[in-house]
Order: sequence, then structure tokens, then C-alpha cells
Amino acid sequence: MEDLKQLVEAVHRELGSKLEEGKVADYIPQLAKVPLKKFGIAVATVEGDLVTVGDAEEAFSIQSISKLFTLTMALGRWGERLWARVDREPSGSRFNSIVQLEHEHGKPRNPFINAGAIAVTDAVLSGSQPKEAIGSILRFMRFLAADDDITIDPRVARSEQATGHRNFALAHFMRSFDVIEHPPAEVLGVYFHQCAIAMSCAQLARSGLFLAAEGRNPLTGHRVVSAARARRLNSMMMMCGHYDGAGDFAFRVGLPGKSGVGGGILAIVPGKAAVAVWSPGLDANGNSHVGTAALELLARRAGWSVFG
Ligand code: GLU
Repeated sequence: MEDLKQLVEAVHRELGSKLEEGKVADYIPQLAKVPLKKFGIAVATVEGDLVTVGDAEEAFSIQSISKLFTLTMALGRWGERLWARVDREPSGSRFNSIVQLEHEHGKPRNPFINAGAIAVTDAVLSGSQPKEAIGSILRFMRFLAADDDITIDPRVARSEQATGHRNFALAHFMRSFDVIEHPPAEVLGVYFHQCAIAMSCAQLARSGLFLAAEGRNPLTGHRVVSAARARRLNSMMMMCGHYDGAGDFAFRVGLPGKSGVGGGILAIVPGKAAVAVWSPGLDANGNSHVGTAALELLARRAGWSVFG
């Protein structure tokens, strides 16, 4: 535990000078206001320890990291039938790309690009009103993190609603192929709110811990998913969790991970820990620049890569 703390502190210290190198996501006006110098790291271990450094207790917009959790919910509800709506192949295109949808009759390539996540949200919404679906997603996050203080930032949700033309285009395109069943405005209302969930690195690391512990949250004893499903979610994160930067992330870090344009990344060290990093400066693929570098250093020094 002491060693881990020292390791995390050293990585945080060493990368502090690189925070200005990335660029905050400015296509969502509310996110453009977040200072570049924010930097937090949290490691939650399967033994129940939590190491936090820097801004690890400050809540930020989890954005696309939410896609991992709505996928978990949708699989719980629809099981294998979910794969009729969305594929599970790496995309190799930008997170908000529309081109592939045309080639594949509106079926998104994976649940972690925007189109796929919107299709997954449509599956979560099935049978309920948008407000109820938003409530269930928020409750699921509170349950996973064992923390009732997690909230949604309404300013971020509104900001996305006002500027998310590309997401509307994706949803309408999929609706034209009957890939989504609800009106685009309803699905996106839920999607924008899930992206606007605000959580700290510490809360995110705790929420991801079930994926490091064969589907069971070791802090609460709750079984979240089966061991087989946890393995599959991890494999999806490895193959698709960083948009068209997924290959680079696997190459450099060697861990399943999911990033968000808020600058957060949740990475899983199977059998050992869940690690959340936050640094809002993004690289050209929309993934946290310093966050990726921090995970690369941590994984290398701790010997965490799943590739040995
Ligand atoms: N809410 C963002 C969008 O739909 C999520 C993108 C991301 O985090 O990568 O554009």
C-alpha cells in the first residue's frame, strides 16, 4: 500500500509539467471552461485499499466513461440479444463518425463510439420514460461506487443538448434503419444526461472495481455481473475503449480502459485494481493526453500490463 502510494505520487509529480500540452474539449461549451491544470489519479485495489493523488476527489464530467456502465445495464437487461442492435468490433474511426453507419445498415460498430452508445441507451430506455431511465443510470452509479453523493451536472447536459447536432444526426440515421426504437430526442435526452454525470477519480475507481474482481464488487460484496461478462466487458474496453486510439492505448498501456472527452480514463487491472485518472487536456483522438501517459507509466512500473 505504501509502495503503491509512492508509485502513484511519483507518476503524478513527473507528469505535472505536461498538463498544458493537451487541449480541452471545446465542442461542448461547458467542458471548455475546465482548467487544463487539473490532474488526479485514484487506484482502488481488490483488497479494499484506495490511493488518491492530486485532484482525485474532485468531480468532473465522466462523458463517454458512462458508456461502459450503460452497456453493463443493457446487457443485464437484454443479454446476448443486445448484439443484434450493436456490433463489437473496433471502429478505427472518430468517436462521432457517421460513415460506418451507412455501410452497415445503421448498425453501429461497437457500444463505445457515440452511435453505439446511443443505441445502447435506447435499449436501456426501453419500457420506461426518459426521466426514469436517467434515474436508473444514476442509481446504478451510486450503487457501484457505494456513494449517494454522485449527481448529474445539468449545465453540461444542457450544453450538449444545445450543440449535439452530430449526435442528433447519428440518432436520426439509426432510427431510419429502425436500429433505435425511440424518438431521437428522447434517447438523446437520456444520453446527454448520462454523459453529464459528474464523478471523481476516487468514485470512478471504486465503480470499476467489479471488473477487476470477476464481476463482484469486493468493497460491498455485491455481484454486479458474472465473471464471464466481466471478462467480456474488459475485452470490449481493450478493443474499443479509446475510439481510433484504442490500438495505441493497448500498445502503450496494455490494460482495458474507457476514456471520456472530459479527460477521464478508467482502466482495469484484472485481479488487482481499478485505476481512474483525470486530466482535461486531450490528444488528437479525444483521449486524455496526460491521463494516458500516467497510465502508461503506472502500468509499466507496477508490471500491470495484461500482456505480461
Ligand atoms: N457526450 C459526448 C458526445 O456525445 C461524449 C463523447 C466522449 O466522451 O467521447 O459528444
